Amino acid sequence: MKKLLLTQRADTPHLVGNGFPVRSIFTYNDLANTISPFLLMDYIGPTEFSPSKSSERRGVGEHPHRGFETVTIMFSGEVEHRDSSGGGGIIRSGDVQWMTAGSGVVHEEFHGKEISEKGGAFHGLQLWVNLPAKDKMTKPKYQGIKKESIPVVELPNDAGTVRVIAGSYLGAQGPASTFTPINLWDITLKAEKLVEFKVPAGHTAAVFVASGSVEAGEGKVIEDAELAVLSRDKETFTLKARQAAKVLFLGGEVINEPIFGYGPFVMNSGAEIAQAMKDYEAGKMGVLERLEGSD
Ligand code: MN
Repeated sequence: MKKLLLTQRADTPHLVGNGFPVRSIFTYNDLANTISPFLLMDYIGPTEFSPSKSSERRGVGEHPHRGFETVTIMFSGEVEHRDSSGGGGIIRSGDVQWMTAGSGVVHEEFHGKEISEKGGAFHGLQLWVNLPAKDKMTKPKYQGIKKESIPVVELPNDAGTVRVIAGSYLGAQGPASTFTPINLWDITLKAEKLVEFKVPAGHTAAVFVASGSVEAGEGKVIEDAELAVLSRDKETFTLKARQAAKVLFLGGEVINEPIFGYGPFVMNSGAEIAQAMKDYEAGKMGVLERLEGSD
């Protein structure tokens, strides 16, 4: 059985742009080597937005990324994205956006029109997933993954369900295409149920509790908004729901390469970061097309 290595939480939210109240659960400055290939997790909300009174859009205006992928999972609410590679789309409750920044994109992330006009619940998270050195300069790519394309697998013993976003669970394949082997599961557990999961030994294994609370490892309680990193050895771990819980499982093959992060860029050396900044300033990551009616 896997052991619990550490737990981590962030209790003070900050606002990203003017629309994303987030708690940074981990970043490439603290856990990146421990939780490779994952680099960062911004936990969004949960919160309730009132209808927007002005025409001002809520979110984050254009900014660059290079060297990794951003994965946005919305449990509720609506996020719209546009990038300089021509990728774009809107994700709603249950959908996932998997954006490969690769060699570089400029993008913007805003609330969707419906939540802006009507208000509503906003809850989700954004993960940054590292790319191996050989793929850091890959062509940018956008996967808009709809809820309907994510398989839902019943857990044994009527314990709940697993939505397989990436990788596989009990033979069901997730729709996300990834550069390294990753298991990303959105687990819903019924109160008091105990489930044993099996994942590849040697991979990173971590769970994040998005609501409720669970016991992992040797009965250690993982609370709402808390991350637990499990040992890489052994294949199995158990989760026991103390109350109905929503848990994200993050697993994957470790990328054993140096991590140099600076703001929106994550590369393998300081020189590559300097190059990324130069390339962004020179417009080599592209520009966003002006929208009709904007100036
Ligand atoms: Mn971004």
